[in-house]
Amino acid sequence: MTHAIGRRQFLEGAGATLLGGALAGCSFGVLESKSRSAPSPALRLPRLRASVDRITNITVCTRPFRAQGPRLDVEKIQGKTVVHNYGHGGSGWSLSWGSSAIAAENAMASGERQVAVIGCGAMGLTSALLLQRAGAHVTIYAKELPPNVRSSLATGLWTPDSRICFEREATPEFRQLWQKMARRSFATYQTLLGLSANPVEFIDVYLVSDGQNAARGLPSDDPRPKFAELQRELVGDLTTRAEDFAPGTHPFGERYVKRAALMMFNLTAYTHLLMADFFAAGGQIDVQEFHTPVDFARIREKTLVNATGYGARALFGDQSVIPVRGQLARMIPEPQIDYGILYNGAAFVPRRDGLVFQMIGPDDYYGFNDDTAVPDRAEAELAVNTIAGLFGPA
Ligand SMILES: Cc1cc2nc3c(=O)[nH]c(=O)nc-3n(C[C@H](O)[C@H](O)[C@H](O)COP(=O)(O)OP(=O)(O)OC[C@H]3O[C@@H](n4cnc5c(N)ncnc54)[C@H](O)[C@@H]3O)c2cc1C
Repeated sequence: MTHAIGRRQFLEGAGATLLGGALAGCSFGVLESKSRSAPSPALRLPRLRASVDRITNITVCTRPFRAQGPRLDVEKIQGKTVVHNYGHGGSGWSLSWGSSAIAAENAMASGERQVAVIGCGAMGLTSALLLQRAGAHVTIYAKELPPNVRSSLATGLWTPDSRICFEREATPEFRQLWQKMARRSFATYQTLLGLSANPVEFIDVYLVSDGQNAARGLPSDDPRPKFAELQRELVGDLTTRAEDFAPGTHPFGERYVKRAALMMFNLTAYTHLLMADFFAAGGQIDVQEFHTPVDFARIREKTLVNATGYGARALFGDQSVIPVRGQLARMIPEPQIDYGILYNGAAFVPRRDGLVFQMIGPDDYYGFNDDTAVPDRAEAELAVNTIAGLFGPA
């Protein structure tokens, strides 16, 4: 039997961006099952030590969602050329190289070779590196640096359409732009595989469900705008097909299991790599906060890339940036665990820098328009216990 699972259902449900939306913003639409003619052999997995006493940290962060997608236009402010590169929802890491390539090109088109990048998250770092590679001298100005930026609190999966825009705003032009960004990013990430400390790697992720038709997403009669799901249609060739495991052929009892490969970012090692490359190419960092765009007058560069993420909402008064709350529970790393799980609204990702558990909710509205930064211990424990429950008593 062959059926498709929306990646958004699997990933987003998990990290919102993770597997369901790769966990939070994903559906399984892109995970089409392989033919039953070649059944997968029985599945064995090292047992995950998931228990709430092993939680080391609970972090909360807001995704910078814009209904119309990221802002990438160029404007003049106080005589400076401001190249925008913000508002990537739950897809910031996934689209970073492609989006920042557009920003770097726009900045270089100004003719300036001394360029400022405002922000040191996923967008700021990749913009800075691409500008350096294009021949610019770059200074990053930011009020926070990794690991104290929002990007450091992401799930760490390649989920390029997770809460990237509303479906109704996904015009043909936007779809073309998104595809370009996704493909450019994916290609760049392939050059970062196989490095020491594994900044980027592929993992197997298991979508486990109690019934045969697990689904995550808005019911068809829900009046709220739907989030765009672009991955399957536009870059489906970059995604593996899912393999089915029938009840009895896997460690999760009578449940239904699907497996697919996903690209994962070990954000601690990956961010170190980006920072090291930036410094090695002569980059400088200046820690400072801008309260209004008028404050840009105090920096010497005439061209700057605005990569302030959720910070653009306050800095530019851009109310189109909507917070989407996401919480991660981090757990003591287990190097032998190399698979992720999505089950019953909870997601697990085997990051080398700390296992990640999260609730991804029934659909992408989970956490929408919620800027509450207070960790919720009960939510963290629910995520851990939901995944732990799959393994039964030790
Ligand atoms: C729970 C969760 C899970 C996620 N999972 C994934 C995932 O698996 N895959 C994925 O691709 N994406 C994921 N995302 C989304 C991703 O984290 C964001 O899209 C991304 O971090 C945005 O990066 P950024 O560089 O634009 O912003 P940020 O990381 O917020 O960086 C902004 C920078 O600008 C600086 N700044 C802001 N305002 C000012 C100011 N006024 N003055 C000076 N400096 C300023 C900040 O200090 C910071 O350095 C997730 C998000 C969340 C919340």
